[in-house]
Amino acid sequence: MNDKGYVMSLTSFLLILPAFLLVIILMNMSISQTGNQESILISDDVLSVAKDLETQLAQTGMEVVKHKSDEVIESGNPLSNSRKEIKDEIQNIMDIWCLRYDQDGIRAHCDVLYADNSQDPFQIEIKSIINVQKGKVKHMVTLSQNISLINESFPIMDPLPFLKCKEYGSVTIGKNKTLYGSSLSEYLESRGFNNSQAYENATSPLFIKKCPYSPYEIHGSAHDFVNFKNCIVNGFYHESNDGACFFCRLEGHGACPHYGMETFILPAPSVNLTSFNNSSEVVTSSLDHVIFDETSFGTYSGHLLVYFQDGTHYFYLFLDDSHRKKYGLPLIE
Ligand SMILES: [Zn+2]
Ligand SMILES: [Zn+2]
Repeated sequence: MNDKGYVMSLTSFLLILPAFLLVIILMNMSISQTGNQESILISDDVLSVAKDLETQLAQTGMEVVKHKSDEVIESGNPLSNSRKEIKDEIQNIMDIWCLRYDQDGIRAHCDVLYADNSQDPFQIEIKSIINVQKGKVKHMVTLSQNISLINESFPIMDPLPFLKCKEYGSVTIGKNKTLYGSSLSEYLESRGFNNSQAYENATSPLFIKKCPYSPYEIHGSAHDFVNFKNCIVNGFYHESNDGACFFCRLEGHGACPHYGMETFILPAPSVNLTSFNNSSEVVTSSLDHVIFDETSFGTYSGHLLVYFQDGTHYFYLFLDDSHRKKYGLPLIE
């Protein structure tokens, strides 16, 4: 190689250097583009698992609430701490559910922090933290979900009557109704109430359903109590400061400090009203929290109110003035 040739080679080298650099840069770009695409795919995976867990939590919450209510009704045993028991059962189910993502190299975990009352008594609140990780991509989300107690395709039974009357005879499940037989009148008699026989063969709604007649005063506003009658026939529940919340119902409490719900417990229709037609006759007011509140403060009497007649039978209940006012019904004379 002569001097000239060497110089020529160096020149050539300098000439092709930019081309080399360009190739290296292009290679790097394509590698980093693949890397970017890979991390976009990973974070898509992670986000879709997080979304999946969110849906699963809501579904599990609903199933657990229904399961707990069924379990309490079947066993007749109240839960001792319904919030904790519901939270723990959701946690157990979610722990098992999360294992399914392992096979895709995704680590998922749900931490159920608590189950508690929501502002709406027809919902409960579930708070949880979801963590999902794949490779270096991590995603964490804190969730507060309101689980409805009144999903029509997933109706939830009210466990309270079954717990309260358990020791006084059988309470049975009828079509959309809780049938007390003699148990409710025996329960009231054991508590020393007069006229407890008024609740012989009483019924109340089986499933928790939210009353659509709002504001509540319109119950009594229509001709012939037609709204009130429809409310009763449909077995609706109403928001109430005095009525027990769903968690406390599972624990067998007829009244509680939380914002809750109330429904009517209906005496059996009668062919005559002679025994109650006297306006001085008083019977425990027909609200579930009045009948099932075991503090003397919460139980008070009501007067007869006939809301329907079908030609052979009178349909009636007993209501105190404060509930008559709440539902827009005529006050006691
Ligand atoms: Zn109603
Ligand atoms: Zn409560």
